[in-house]
Amino acid sequence: MAHGGIRYLENGEFRLVREAVEERNRLIKNAPQYVRPLPTVIPIFQWLSGAFNAPLKFLGLLDKPAERGAAIIKMGLMMYDAYTGSERTVPRHEFLLRNAALKRYPQLNQEIVSIAEYYDGLIRSPERLCVELITDGETASPTAHAINYVSVVGAAENYVRLQDEVSGETFDIEPQLVINAAGPWIDFANQAMGQQSNFIGGTKGSHLVLDHPELRAAIGDHEFFFENHDGRIVLICPLEERVLIGTSDTRIDNPDDVRCTDDEIDYFLSMTARVFPAIKIDRSQIVFTFSGVRPLPAANAKSTGQISRDHSIEAVEATDRVKFPILNLIGGKWTTF
Ligand SMILES: Cc1cc2nc3c(=O)[nH]c(=O)nc-3n(C[C@H](O)[C@H](O)[C@H](O)COP(=O)(O)OP(=O)(O)OC[C@H]3O[C@@H](n4cnc5c(N)ncnc54)[C@H](O)[C@@H]3O)c2cc1C
Repeated sequence: MAHGGIRYLENGEFRLVREAVEERNRLIKNAPQYVRPLPTVIPIFQWLSGAFNAPLKFLGLLDKPAERGAAIIKMGLMMYDAYTGSERTVPRHEFLLRNAALKRYPQLNQEIVSIAEYYDGLIRSPERLCVELITDGETASPTAHAINYVSVVGAAENYVRLQDEVSGETFDIEPQLVINAAGPWIDFANQAMGQQSNFIGGTKGSHLVLDHPELRAAIGDHEFFFENHDGRIVLICPLEERVLIGTSDTRIDNPDDVRCTDDEIDYFLSMTARVFPAIKIDRSQIVFTFSGVRPLPAANAKSTGQISRDHSIEAVEATDRVKFPILNLIGGKWTTF
């Protein structure tokens, strides 16, 4: 998604949300072949829930997530719209009361009090967008050269050792500076270069892909974005003719070990059933599961939702053994360039 991160407002990350909304708008304008406005529906089950928690969370006096009601969602969406500015790359948000909402989405849970509809950005081909960014970089700097299937496996003195992961061949280069953009593996890559760091506190996000024509028809071209009673987020999103359901946000130690677990599958299916109780959903409709790791900064926050999604650059200085500095790119969002 090219999203502005509406829920980061509650953590007081106003600059990040403003920047992310601006980037989302730029992507919709500059790369319409890949990014388009995504109408997003929030089913709301309470009027006031979360209204008192949000200011406390913002002041750092509360660290337990809770379900957000209509009042707090309305405030968030007003700010979100304001960040879009007068240009209106995407339409403003809209609130529908229960009866009107159920008329528009008849299979929604009858216990909703209202829905909110707002817009974010859907990246239809993130891989192609990524390749265009790389070719843009190479065009902008003729000395830049992108190579894949190559890992950093060592460093000493003034050289870094790289390994071709296909042939196994190794070769050395002599950099003045290394930029470590290994995401969740940043600390592992530093370790491979003989430097210790503790920058990353990655969190796992798992997803299911369902082949479920009835659910696919019920969501249409909309993402449904909603919360559990404990404030955890779940989204249901169209993925071509399939349905994508996610995501979790769980601390992990080793990004190579992450898998979508049975508990996560049960959780996603039960949450989807809460929003669309009339639609029968079970494991037989799952065609694919996957997990990724957000390269978030190491932090002591009590809940993962409170860890900043902002980006930063942390330096590992040159030493007697490794004579070049390493700049580490840390950050939890792809589309805030
Ligand atoms: C479930 C989930 C949902 C997300 N949703 C969104 C979203 O909707 N919008 C958004 O903007 N962001 C989203 N993110 C965050 C986004 O994916 C990350 O912020 C982004 O991928 C970070 O980019 P990166 O290049 O820093 O790291 P990565 O994309 O993780 O890339 C790191 C690369 O380093 C390579 N590497 C590792 N070790 C070495 C080594 N020793 N030598 C060489 N290379 C190495 C890896 O193979 C990998 O290719 C999501 C993340 C997750 C997990």
